Amino acid sequence: MCASQAAARGRSVALLDHTNQIGRKILISGGGRCNFTNIHAQPNSFVSQNPHFCKSALSRFTPSDFIDLVKKYRIPFHEKKLGQLFCDGSAENIVQMLISECKNAGAEFHLDCRINNIESGKHSPDNIDEGYFEVQTSRGTYECASLIIATGGLSIPQIGATGFGYDVARQFGLKIIPTTPALDGFNFSNADLKQFADLAGVSVDTKTSCNEANFRENILFTHTGLSGPAILQASLYWQKGNPVQIDLLPEFDATQWLSNLKNSGNRMDTKNVVADKLPKRLAERICQLQRIDQSKIFQLNEKELNELGQSLNNFQIYPAGTVGYRKAEVTRGGVDTGELSSKTMEAKKVKGLYFIGEVVDVTGQLGGFNFQWAWASGFAAGQYC
Ligand SMILES: Cc1cc2nc3c(=O)[nH]c(=O)nc-3n(C[C@H](O)[C@H](O)[C@H](O)COP(=O)(O)OP(=O)(O)OC[C@H]3O[C@@H](n4cnc5c(N)ncnc54)[C@H](O)[C@@H]3O)c2cc1C
Repeated sequence: MCASQAAARGRSVALLDHTNQIGRKILISGGGRCNFTNIHAQPNSFVSQNPHFCKSALSRFTPSDFIDLVKKYRIPFHEKKLGQLFCDGSAENIVQMLISECKNAGAEFHLDCRINNIESGKHSPDNIDEGYFEVQTSRGTYECASLIIATGGLSIPQIGATGFGYDVARQFGLKIIPTTPALDGFNFSNADLKQFADLAGVSVDTKTSCNEANFRENILFTHTGLSGPAILQASLYWQKGNPVQIDLLPEFDATQWLSNLKNSGNRMDTKNVVADKLPKRLAERICQLQRIDQSKIFQLNEKELNELGQSLNNFQIYPAGTVGYRKAEVTRGGVDTGELSSKTMEAKKVKGLYFIGEVVDVTGQLGGFNFQWAWASGFAAGQYC
């Protein structure tokens, strides 16, 4: 995005990548269909130490702007749910679109290009207002006035993710907000692993909350913990030691419901009553853990009813951690936004050095937000670099 914008302004642009394929994350995104934006993208869909930083770029390149581009290339798409736009066909359409935009504007691609070293500071004698960088690579040395770092985060190292962008930031004395995997599953604590590992495959519609953020989506039990969209969302807000609260019956007050059944003299097994609303294996396990799996509803005392109601409306886990960068969709944290201009993405203290996309400490929720940030921040830098 940035390369095409800068080239369209007449800049001479070389796009360097150490892999031999452009946009590999785009290709694997959205299950191969790329959830390329979200029509509800708002600054509050993003997490950052400075929640205001993303506002300017997001307002200057909106989901509609990207949709216009997708339409210009006649790429068929649809809304899957919650404003999430996906290609009807393949994510390859988006990659080809971006490549065409770059090539039409005159940007060049230099793939399989390993960056060995970056030197800076020696202003070209004819223009001291510009930056000056020497980028030494496996394909020779490039000299440039603007150096844009768009190397993303640490997730999925298998397809070329590296911490390169953070190293460059450090080299130039810019602060980094500590990075962690996000939009990731959780691993159970040892105690929870014993209690829930055999529920792998069970999926439930929930309201899942973590640190004030809550999401009405599915969770999925896995062999090692929890996953599913609601859990990935919660992971964006989770810090080690925090609980994750899961309302397994978000439509109603479970204690009230159980009391009504008891008061009406219901003679069903408690676990069967619960299994009417939840997957059987989960219903049985919850009742087992409360030691009421052999009881009928009318036999439960008030304490047991309350505790069961609580465990249904407020099922709580303390994850041991997230699964990690091999599975996480994004990296939370990154180049401190305080170091960058929100208008141009240029480092305040290094003329000509820009950071865009996921390498910056702006991380979106699940659902097309991270690409929207990549497009918007790339567009912003592309107008100035
Ligand atoms: C499995 C998966 C699914 C996803 N699905 C979605 C989705 O559907 N919607 C959404 O909005 N977001 C999704 N994301 C997140 C989204 O892919 C990223 O946030 C987005 O790609 C970030 O864009 P970027 O340009 O900053 O970095 P990237 O897309 O990660 O691009 C970075 C580029 O830099 C190159 N690079 C890295 N290190 C070096 C180096 N040392 N030297 C040279 N080049 C280097 C890489 O090869 C890569 O081409 C998904 C992520 C994953 C992992």
